[in-house]
Amino acid sequence: MDLERRKRELLDYYKRFGYAKTEKIIKAFLKVPREEFIPDELRNRAYVDSPLPIGNGQTISAPHMIFIMCEALEPALDVGAKVLEIGAGSGYHAAVCAEIVAPTELLGKEENLGHVYTVERIPKLAEFARKNLEKTGYANRVTIIVGDGTLGLEDYAPYNAINVTAAGPQIPPPLIDQLSPDGGRLIIPVGELFGFQKLILVIKEGEKVIRKDLGGVSFVPLKGKYGW
Ligand code: SAH
Repeated sequence: MDLERRKRELLDYYKRFGYAKTEKIIKAFLKVPREEFIPDELRNRAYVDSPLPIGNGQTISAPHMIFIMCEALEPALDVGAKVLEIGAGSGYHAAVCAEIVAPTELLGKEENLGHVYTVERIPKLAEFARKNLEKTGYANRVTIIVGDGTLGLEDYAPYNAINVTAAGPQIPPPLIDQLSPDGGRLIIPVGELFGFQKLILVIKEGEKVIRKDLGGVSFVPLKGKYGW
């Protein structure tokens, strides 16, 4: 089992098919060990292009979805950016975002590095994410909060980028409110419960809020006040 080789092969595939485009996202994917964010018995499937179960009926997204979502948040997802994630799950997606906004190689060398805040409603998963982020060295770049992420996280708003990793019936209004008016970007799957869902990108420029449909997807349900 050579995970490093499989990771490179998967990345080559993503490059060929246009999922992996931006260098800093590719670097972050190479840096963060997905195998440390999944249950031990699934370790050898870390670089198979598939979602995997992480307990409590939830899943870690397939790696191509990480690329689709990070590429969509470009250029808002940059060194120094403040990021909000809804649905910490395993902590993997948050770690990839942290590696982009606060790259390991710049730690201690540069001052204005970014930070990721991730909200998780299931305390056991928040704990799983915390352990995974600690053992991989991302604990200082990611703050985990237990709560209803459809309310956003007012305390640290506005955010340059918001990443929702579960599908709801609508875009929660607090998330749009908490997005930076300076080109802030929000990505969220919206649609039916376990049915047809589409990935929506929201871009905020001053008073203007633009929405784009990026196509069909399949995510676990977003619960909470503005969820199911
Ligand atoms: N980003 C995760 C994938 C998470 S799956 C990863 O990289 O592993 C979606 C997660 O969203 C689940 O853990 C689920 O519990 C959580 N979730 C659903 N509704 C939520 C809400 N209203 N607030 C916070 N978390 C929520």
